[in-house]
Parts: sequence; C-alpha cells; structure tokens
Amino acid sequence: MTETLDIQITKTTHSRLQETDFDNLPFGKIFSDHMFVADYADGEWKNFQVIPYGEIGLSPAISALHYGQAFFEGIKAYKHADGKVVIFRPDKNAERFNKSAERLCMPTLPEDIFLQSLAAVVDIDRDWVPTQDNHALYIRPFMFATDPFLGVQPSATYKYMVLTCPVGPYFSKTLRVKIETNFTRAAEGGMGFAKAAGNYASSMLPGKTAVDEGFDQLIWTDARDHAYIEEMGAANAMFVLDGKLVTPSTQSTILKGVTRDTVIKLAQEWGVPVEERRVSVAEIVEGAKNGKLTDAFGAGTAATIAPVGSISYNGEEYFLIDPKEREFSQKVLKTLNDIKYGVIPDTHGWNFPVGE
Ligand SMILES: *Cc1c(COP(=O)(O)O)cnc(C)c1O
Repeated sequence: MTETLDIQITKTTHSRLQETDFDNLPFGKIFSDHMFVADYADGEWKNFQVIPYGEIGLSPAISALHYGQAFFEGIKAYKHADGKVVIFRPDKNAERFNKSAERLCMPTLPEDIFLQSLAAVVDIDRDWVPTQDNHALYIRPFMFATDPFLGVQPSATYKYMVLTCPVGPYFSKTLRVKIETNFTRAAEGGMGFAKAAGNYASSMLPGKTAVDEGFDQLIWTDARDHAYIEEMGAANAMFVLDGKLVTPSTQSTILKGVTRDTVIKLAQEWGVPVEERRVSVAEIVEGAKNGKLTDAFGAGTAATIAPVGSISYNGEEYFLIDPKEREFSQKVLKTLNDIKYGVIPDTHGWNFPVGE
C-alpha cells in the first residue's frame, strides 16, 4: 500500500466555527479553518502542510496569472447520522486531476498524495461538515504555476492546495435553459475535458448573456455546427428520451463527470438502457415537442441533479413535465443521496471514510 504522507500540521488558534451560520451558507464563500498546501520544485512534490486558512504571498509575475496554467477539482464530503464522514469517489477526481495536469503541461500528483491531502483537511475540520439535509463539505483541490517569469513556457514550480467550504444545495429551483448557438465552450483538440481555469473564464460572458436574457443556465453545443449537445453550464447534460438514458459521449470537448459516471452505473444496474453518443439538438427539441423527452437534468458534484424545466432554442421555449413527476431523476437523486449520507449500504465502494 501507500506510504503515510509526512504532513506538517499547524492548527488555527482562533476557530471560526462558532461564528458560522450553518443555516445560511452561500456557495463557496465560507471557508473552514484549515487548508492544505504543497510545493512542486526541483522535479518533486514537497512541503506538505495543513495550515490555517488565509492569504498567501505570491509574486505578481507568477505565470498562473498571466497565462492561465491553473486547474481545479470539485468533490464533496458528507456526514452520516452516526458522525462518520465520507468523501464521495475521490479516486475518480485524482485520475481527472492528472488528466488536467498533463493537458496543461503541469506536473501530475500521485493519487495517494491527492487522497491523503483530502483526508487531512477534511479530518482536521470534520466539525465543519454540515449535518443538515442536502448539505456537504465542498472540497476544492487546485494547482497553479508559480514561476515569477513572463516568458510563455511551462513553469518549473507549482503550488497544490486544498480548500474546503461547508455548502447547502446549489440550485434551489427548476432551471430555465437555452441552447447556445453562438458561443462555444470547447473545440476538438482544445482542453474541454480538463478542469482548466481558462475554460471557466471563457464561459463567463456566455453565461452572463444567458442570465441577462432571463435564463438560469445554457446548454453548450459543438463548436463546428452548434447542432450537437455537449454540456449544461459546468455540469454534464443528461436526458431520458424514449425510455433511454441519453448523454453526450465524452470526447475531448466534454468534461468526464464523476456524477455522470455514477448516474450511468446506477441506470445500468436498474436495467435502464444507456446511450452515450452524439446527441443532436434536433432530437432533443423534437422529444420536448412530442413528449418523448421525459427527463432532462444537469449532473455535477456542486449541483448534484439539477432538473431542467424548459429548454429554449431559436427563440422557442419548450416546457418539460414537472420535475416531481419524473421517475428517473427522482430515483437517481434519492439513491445518490441515500448512498452518500449512509442511509443505504454503499455496495459500490464509492464512500471513502475519513479519520478511521
Ligand atoms: C466539474 C464539471 C462537471 C461535473 O463533473 P463532476 O465530476 O460530476 O462534478 C461537468 N462539466 C464541467 C464543465 C465541469 O467543470
């Protein structure tokens, strides 16, 4: 097995736990007491530390700021009724972390360092893992380039860090979405499959434009023809069409979501036919018109299962059935939650216990 990582721990002298209102948690704004930091230099990872959450000093010339050598992950930890804390499928995120690193010409991080860093921050702040329904501790591992050098080339030094935030549900309502036919998120050969910071920078203007038009979210289409569905905001797009679970296959333009993978595995176990393939805008619009589209949702760690209420395309809005009446997404959401919160046995080995 793996060696225990030598992590130097410095505890905070002033916990903010008591002054935090757990009934009012805006997403990603409240940070727990500690964070994890490690440095990459001379070709290796070193200086593994857990320190109080706070500002860090950096040169204004670091290449992450100028050329965007930066990427992240998003994971959640859940508290069970008996006080046990688990992290959901972090091994999948470790794998994706390194795919992002390779695409951005950044160093990979051994899976056991990744997993032990998460366990260390979650364990030290386990009292920050919320206990309310649908709440969790959001875990944000990330890496960025730290060479103070304005030349366009891969940095030789990097920082790897992990922050955690107690969070409530991400979306509280059914989403009004539009199919985007102007902007593009990713093209073949680009970095759509990586959780690269730059992908989110380029999505902000399209996202804001959609919100200004009265939508909650947009559905990305392919860069060439805008005729095939790719993703829904920063979540994977999933549909039930004609009784089958249909979702775009993960070529290089699509981020391979852990939630997407989990939903597919559950569907397969339930005997629901699954199709991972090119999904045309035309068939989704047609299904919305003729009633064969019985379910549509975004799947992601932050949003979990976010039901789509209506889809707009070329100025026409198509309404779907009431989310409460959708058999598949209701069942998948309940099963996912029951596994994560330890209500039913975790027969897949998806929950990684912390501090045992
Ligand atoms: C993070 C993310 C997802 C969802 O991935 P999960 O592993 O399920 O959280 C989907 N699409 C994009 C673009 C993302 O950034």
